[in-house]
Amino acid sequence: MSNNSYFDYIIIGNGLAGLQLALKMVSNAFFDNKQIALIDSSEKNVNDKTWSFWETESSQWNNIIHKSWNKASVITSKKAIDLELKPYTYKSIRSIDFYKEAKNRLKQNPNIYFIIDSVKSVKEEYESIVVTAKQNTFTASHVFDSRIPETFSNDSKHSISITQHFKGWIIKTETDVFDENKVIMMDYRLKDGNQTTFTYVLPFSKTEALVEFTYFTEQLVNDEVYNKYIKNYIKKYLKIDNYTIIETETGKIPMTIFPFDKYNTNRITKIGTAGGWVKGSTGYSFKHTEKKVAKIVENIKANKTPSNHLFKSKYKFYDKVFLKVLKDENHKGEWIFQQFYDKNSVETMFKFLDEESSFIEELKIMWSLFSWSFIKAFFKTL
Ligand SMILES: Cc1cc2nc3c(=O)[nH]c(=O)nc-3n(C[C@H](O)[C@H](O)[C@H](O)COP(=O)(O)OP(=O)(O)OC[C@H]3O[C@@H](n4cnc5c(N)ncnc54)[C@H](O)[C@@H]3O)c2cc1C
Repeated sequence: MSNNSYFDYIIIGNGLAGLQLALKMVSNAFFDNKQIALIDSSEKNVNDKTWSFWETESSQWNNIIHKSWNKASVITSKKAIDLELKPYTYKSIRSIDFYKEAKNRLKQNPNIYFIIDSVKSVKEEYESIVVTAKQNTFTASHVFDSRIPETFSNDSKHSISITQHFKGWIIKTETDVFDENKVIMMDYRLKDGNQTTFTYVLPFSKTEALVEFTYFTEQLVNDEVYNKYIKNYIKKYLKIDNYTIIETETGKIPMTIFPFDKYNTNRITKIGTAGGWVKGSTGYSFKHTEKKVAKIVENIKANKTPSNHLFKSKYKFYDKVFLKVLKDENHKGEWIFQQFYDKNSVETMFKFLDEESSFIEELKIMWSLFSWSFIKAFFKTL
């Protein structure tokens, strides 16, 4: 460890954001002489999630892509929409492969220090930032922090928030049953009442798939509820009777416009979910994280505050309107996603979700969702 536990940068959290940030830093000569500590309470040696994302270019993660697809479908109670994703490819990475790959690459750098400890507090002092953890105290010039602010969980009344929560089973069958070339992004045929709930299917091969039952709602449900719906879906819609569950995945992702960026200062930057990097309307953050870490590195090199201009405010507004509709009229989810996927080209949709769309493309999206619900939400949000 460096002398006196002093580092140029401390990154709290070896998750998606922390590891991507560290990798971006060490790939740039500017950081060659900087001491960087990564503190996490976990060794990160368990596969705790499957990250999926789309992109047109070949990925910097190519060697750990678990599976990729060029076709997808969205199924509602009214229609099945088939999507040819080209020029995009939808890709999945198992988190354990990402943690291993990132740690291997980082461990080759003598200026990187991995520390297992649980951070209790981060305080700005006169000359440095003091990070107090369970076992040790560390100091740094700048801290990147993946811990979600405690105020977030007490704030549901003030910011528009719902939760994307889900459970998935990776199942294995003895015979070939899955179309391994096509992802089911959303299947609304099986629903929990009138809420926005759907099944997501990632076929990894003809005999193996992740089948996930997902809610976009305010209230959470018990484990048995997810189990019941996954089981029903497998039987009724995939028509599979014999299978083995080889892994399970559960998750809760905030879909929110909570002002996480207000917690950034000149010397502390909140990152990942804690920094508001998860897109409020979708829960996706893998590709957004790549862009945010690139911007942070660019800012540091230009001697600007690292969190400078990390967000484009118009997309925060769009997310806010969308979340307002889903929160006030949760039953509308099926209609919204049917319109969204049916009335727009794949390119327009993905560019919009990637926050790279033109105003004309945004108008097209708005037109496809034009309804009293969105008009109301638009004016209430304004
Ligand atoms: C199950 C699941 C599936 C998801 N799938 C997708 C997907 O397919 N595509 C997509 O784009 N997004 C997905 N997401 C959303 C998002 O990409 C992930 O949540 C992502 O991991 C967020 O990155 P993060 O770095 O903020 O958090 P994490 O990856 O959770 O990392 C946070 C780290 O901080 C550490 N930590 C927390 N508190 C402390 C403390 N006090 N002291 C020390 N360390 C601490 C934790 O141990 C953890 O390692 C998914 C989320 C979940 C939960």
